[in-house]
Amino acid sequence: MRKPKLRELGEAVKALLRGPATIGFPAEPYEPPDAFRGRPKYSKDDCIGCGACAEVCPSQCIVVTDDTAAATPARRLELHYDACIFCGQCELHCTTDKGIRLSTDYDLACFDRAACIESVEKPLVLCEVCGAVIGCRDHLLWVAERLGAKRYANPTLILLADGELGLVGGEARRDPGRPLDRSDMMRVLCPACREPYEDESGQRLFRAKGCRQCGGGGFHGRIAISELLPLRPDVQQLVLQRASAGEIRARADALGLGTLAQDGWSKVQAGLTTAEEVLRVTRM
Ligand code: SF4
Ligand code: SF4
Ligand SMILES: [Zn+2]
Repeated sequence: MRKPKLRELGEAVKALLRGPATIGFPAEPYEPPDAFRGRPKYSKDDCIGCGACAEVCPSQCIVVTDDTAAATPARRLELHYDACIFCGQCELHCTTDKGIRLSTDYDLACFDRAACIESVEKPLVLCEVCGAVIGCRDHLLWVAERLGAKRYANPTLILLADGELGLVGGEARRDPGRPLDRSDMMRVLCPACREPYEDESGQRLFRAKGCRQCGGGGFHGRIAISELLPLRPDVQQLVLQRASAGEIRARADALGLGTLAQDGWSKVQAGLTTAEEVLRVTRM
């Protein structure tokens, strides 16, 4: 047998005195170093449910699900840490800087991958007209707080922030029987294929035809129709006297203010949309 080299002999003697270098995990708990990247964890208080972490996750292990049909609509973020590569991008790009943090959890062993989930749930705010998701309640409040006085330019932010202060009562809920559309938005005729024709009075109007550019539907984009009632002193007086909508309407008519239908008809004459579209959105 060859003689061991002196250095190896020294190592062997030191190991004999020091004991084995192997750790006792999992029989004994292991304390990883501070810079250890373990399972990312959400902070329920600091996460605002914006979903930015899911956008930047390179392994796409964060799934965002919006449940708009629930009694309390909510967004759920599920982080499947069995697919996480512990890159730290979610923590780095978190909107609030502290909504998600990589923990120093060392023990990630589990028998069921379906159980390897870290999640957070946030209430959603839906548009009460069309039912679309506006955002998470906490996200909107976070934006309102940062905007300060500028939030008063946005009705959703005013209602939410003032609701937090108890100035506005109750939750705005959409009427489920109301159709999912906006009564003041008309479809615009596709300029590539709209078809001219003459109505009974000989006026040149346009109707939808359909082409590849508009996907065959004949329309491309939407346009608003509006009524504008300037708050002149006489109108202000009516509002202060709590006059009925009919009285205010009569005043607006006397001032020569147009109706939604009149605004819509001017857009039909300009070739932007069809008479049927105006009838549809004004429900005449
Ligand atoms: S606040 Fe941070 S952790 Fe929460 S959803 Fe947004 S980016 Fe993700
Ligand atoms: S650490 Fe990286 S892979 Fe894991 S959840 Fe965050 S962004 Fe995704
Ligand atoms: Zn077209």
